[in-house]
Amino acid sequence: MTMTAIGAIDIGGTKIAVGIVDENGRLISRMEASSKAAEAYHDGVELIADMMRKTSRSTGLEIAGIGIGATGPVDPFTGRFGDLDFLPLWSGESLVDDLAQDFGVPVALENDADAAALAEASWGAGRSKSRLIYVTIGTGIGGGIILDGQLYRGVDGAHPEIGHQVVDTVGPPCSCGLNGCWESLAAGPAMVRWVESQPEYSAGEQLTAKRICELALTGDTLALRAVDRETFYLGIGLANLVNLFTPDALILSGSIMKSADLFLDGIRKVMRQGCRFVPLEKAELTLASLGEDANLIGAARAWHYRFARDSKHVYQ
Ligand SMILES: [Zn+2]
Repeated sequence: MTMTAIGAIDIGGTKIAVGIVDENGRLISRMEASSKAAEAYHDGVELIADMMRKTSRSTGLEIAGIGIGATGPVDPFTGRFGDLDFLPLWSGESLVDDLAQDFGVPVALENDADAAALAEASWGAGRSKSRLIYVTIGTGIGGGIILDGQLYRGVDGAHPEIGHQVVDTVGPPCSCGLNGCWESLAAGPAMVRWVESQPEYSAGEQLTAKRICELALTGDTLALRAVDRETFYLGIGLANLVNLFTPDALILSGSIMKSADLFLDGIRKVMRQGCRFVPLEKAELTLASLGEDANLIGAARAWHYRFARDSKHVYQ
């Protein structure tokens, strides 16, 4: 039996990772480079193609296809990038066409959160769940929605922005034009901004959401209040998703969820207060299981989802 190995590419704001993923969702080789080295689009294509050749050579496997996951607006059908704020020169370019030509294999492109949602649904914490919402909480809040086994796409293939649901109309202004978006209140930078705005905060070390979580574990009262506030807003946003979609599972990921123990019980409590008319007890709240390379594994899964649907997976 031959193995279907897929070349995977994860394009993010700070790094571009390239790897080989086997047909069971295992990442068997990976490399990465700084996104800065890919600023000019053609340099980027060359860099990615070079990493792809090296990483696939190191496994001794032929790749049957290439999957790409990218932060920011992408058109999964035309394969073109929208306006990426971290790679502005890529706007309108098609890495799908360029790599397909170079490698002679089919290439798929998805938003990275949609790609990770597909991977968790078939190879991770969402196996056996047909309606799941993947939520990643880090420097922003994003996610992907799988309904009845299909990746939910909006009009023209648009990716829904769950981080921009408004949870407090008099909250902080957000880049999207509204105030009090979930992301502006509950992403990592929001935790930091809130702590720094408190009268008892004394400026010293560079504060991060991770550091606030560490301080909370030592009993620091300001950090504990920040965790309570974060828990409340996470709970509200997730309760909204349950009320809107009544999913089987909510799968949480991202850097804030590395401290999930601080938040999960409280999140469940907030959700119980606000999801009385839907079967909340059937919506499992769980952590993502594919780890740091979920986006890379997701990029490969996006390829399978597009080109190789078979009967082994829930959503076929
Ligand atoms: Zn917003």
